Amino acid sequence: MSDSKYQQLVAHLSEAHHLERAVAILQWDQQVKMPTGGAPQRAAQLAVLSRIAHEAFAQDKTARLLEDTEREIDGMDYDSDEASMVRVAKEEYRLASKLPAEFVAELTRATSLGRGAWIEARATNTFRTFEPQLQHIIDLTLQRAEYLGYDEHPYDALIDEYERGITTAQVTEIFGAHKPALVELIAAVQENSDTVDDSLVHQQFDIEKQKQFALDVIKAYGFDFERGRQDVSVHPFCTHFSRGDVRITTRFHDDFLNPALFGMMHEAGHGMYEQGSPERFEGTHLSGGTSLGVHESQSRLWENVVGRSKGFWIWALPKLQAYFPDELGSADVDSFYKAINKVGKSFIRVESDESTYNLHIMLRFELETDMVSGKVKVRDLPEEWNDRFESFFGITPPTDTLGVLQDIHWSMGLVGYFATYALGNLLSVQYYNKAVQQHPGIPDEIASGKFDTLRNWMQDNIYQHGRKFTSDELTRRVTGESIQSRDYMQYLQTKFGEIYGL
Ligand code: ZN
Repeated sequence: MSDSKYQQLVAHLSEAHHLERAVAILQWDQQVKMPTGGAPQRAAQLAVLSRIAHEAFAQDKTARLLEDTEREIDGMDYDSDEASMVRVAKEEYRLASKLPAEFVAELTRATSLGRGAWIEARATNTFRTFEPQLQHIIDLTLQRAEYLGYDEHPYDALIDEYERGITTAQVTEIFGAHKPALVELIAAVQENSDTVDDSLVHQQFDIEKQKQFALDVIKAYGFDFERGRQDVSVHPFCTHFSRGDVRITTRFHDDFLNPALFGMMHEAGHGMYEQGSPERFEGTHLSGGTSLGVHESQSRLWENVVGRSKGFWIWALPKLQAYFPDELGSADVDSFYKAINKVGKSFIRVESDESTYNLHIMLRFELETDMVSGKVKVRDLPEEWNDRFESFFGITPPTDTLGVLQDIHWSMGLVGYFATYALGNLLSVQYYNKAVQQHPGIPDEIASGKFDTLRNWMQDNIYQHGRKFTSDELTRRVTGESIQSRDYMQYLQTKFGEIYGL
């Protein structure tokens, strides 16, 4: 009995998929365990393996199997596993076959070295030591956009890799639609900034206890430690090798409670999405999360919409107080809730509050599009960053480490990626509102430490589809409309209006 074309296609695709996951293991190791001495050879190992993975996918056999399978499954539903597998793999093949294997290897090598250079530059606060590596990565990125092709703006080709189907013009419109209201809200909050005191979260907090509490929280959320683990790294991230092995990382500060705690909730949100991918999609193009924007909606949901809500802390504060009786024993829910939500003019995106977060993204989006269109040169980035930061936030980063060097993304060649964070914020509230509309008991459940209804809703509406649908298809299926900023702005205005008495 011979296998169907579909079975042959799935078996064939899984080879490239497994190789890609092996690349991810080496990358996780590089960021979490590897001594710095391993960097040059690790770059070579990653370059070889990623080239082989690329060749395994972007070969003529893939194209033939896709064509044969398409004929075999003709007439099947758009939503069926078979039609979705062919549709998703075909689109990825179309893009992958445009990139020469040597180019992919060079990009992997450049970004592997770039990451090391970035870590060093960040530690010594010298952009100039990172500049040559970054220049090379940006040159390769521009070349990548040319290989991939675009209609209007070279940035379209880059952003499409993270959020399939979206264009620079659409993102500009979505950002433009809420930037004025955001700036207005932040200004109003600043006028009342004295009304919120966050000294509660700025005390000495034992790192081991911080870790234990954060682990308690994400276990309650539903992150499965039989199928995942948590470690420490310079830049927090989530990666997966299968739905049965999902890795999240955290960084700790001993004098500030927020980064590790909310960072852990954030990465667990990503992790649960990966763990919720259906078993039958394992090893195929349909496994895991769809776009990065949808992925970010899941992390921001558990970090912010749940983790920074008052209801959550009605349940969680007594538990946190048990770990820190001296530091937080006398705190009440109201003042703690305000402290964790204090709006500050933070230099650091990952540590910024919900109201200023999307502005940090808009800054990067504007800089990236200008860099890609040639308006901004790599060597001028520190000054450009600081000038724009000043005009957005009214303050200037005192060092490159607090400015242009804070994010790992460019060192990894991830240009076009940042916008998905802001899109994720918008989607997090859009999805949450829909879940609450269907299950009005969710906010009360959160206040008693029950997260099943919300997580199961995400499972049924988001996780279970894996990568079958694009972000827009999924969002319209789930909420009945495309991504919009209305829900998010209402959420921010209500929440911060109450906290700051606006
Ligand atoms: Zn994230």
